[in-house]
Amino acid sequence: MNRLIGKTAIVTGATAGIGFKTAELLAEQGVDVIITGRRKERLEEIKNDLENRFRINVQTAPFDIQDADACSTFIEALSVDIDILVNNAGLAKGTDPVFAADFEDWDTMIDTNVKGLLYLSRLISAKMKERNSGHIINVGSVAGHESYAGGVVYTATKHAVKAITESTKKDLHGTNVRVSMVSPGLVETEFSEVRFGGDKEKAASVYKGIQPLTALDIAEIILFVANRPAHVNIMDTIIYPVAQSSATMVHRND
Ligand code: NAP
Repeated sequence: MNRLIGKTAIVTGATAGIGFKTAELLAEQGVDVIITGRRKERLEEIKNDLENRFRINVQTAPFDIQDADACSTFIEALSVDIDILVNNAGLAKGTDPVFAADFEDWDTMIDTNVKGLLYLSRLISAKMKERNSGHIINVGSVAGHESYAGGVVYTATKHAVKAITESTKKDLHGTNVRVSMVSPGLVETEFSEVRFGGDKEKAASVYKGIQPLTALDIAEIILFVANRPAHVNIMDTIIYPVAQSSATMVHRND
């Protein structure tokens, strides 16, 4: 049953990977989507593609989610009520240990994965509370459930997403606003290329010898979470590829 038709969703980080697939699946279900990311041209291409294929409206919002003023300007300019916010924009930078990592990488991860997600949650949740309706879906990670060597700040940011999801649910206690999280394991997207500063070979090695999750696998879960009846609030879902059993236990075929 499609309960999403006619709704409006913001999907952050929709220029690639999980965000792009989520925007596509929502559009397929008849949801108007507002897609964000820093790559303006890519957003325009996606808008044209989705509007050609589905009978929905797409708005694009190119901005850097680390910029609090840009987040406020984006939300103030909205002319429609938002039913669903998918807080997906995020990234990992590097795999250096705590004693050797780069401050700039840490700032980027914290400012994007934590502060950017918080800015939009702050701005949208106020409107959702006022309307007593809406759904915030945060993209966390298995790294929000488990820490690993080489991920001191990435795992910290995803633990923060878990805490933010739970606190947001509690802050909105007694309203009809829903708050959820999805926590993927290894998904083959641009994620590893970004993590390794564009090193395609290193990025490919992350998925070597396994069948990783695809962006579609996760987008389908996000759609499922969004499409539950209004009284059902899924708090979290952990999704691994079958070859993965923890953040670091990955069975590879040579
Ligand atoms: P991806 O293909 O690299 O996509 C990341 C998206 O985030 C892009 O659309 C990017 O857009 C956007 N983004 C990054 N920094 C941004 C910024 N400062 N301002 C605005 N947008 C920004 O990676 P993905 O795998 O789909 O990642 C999506 C989410 O899933 C992230 O939160 C990630 O932590 C989480 N996740 C991924 C995996 C995995 O294995 N891939 C596993 C668990 C969780 P622009 O570059 O155009 O700005």
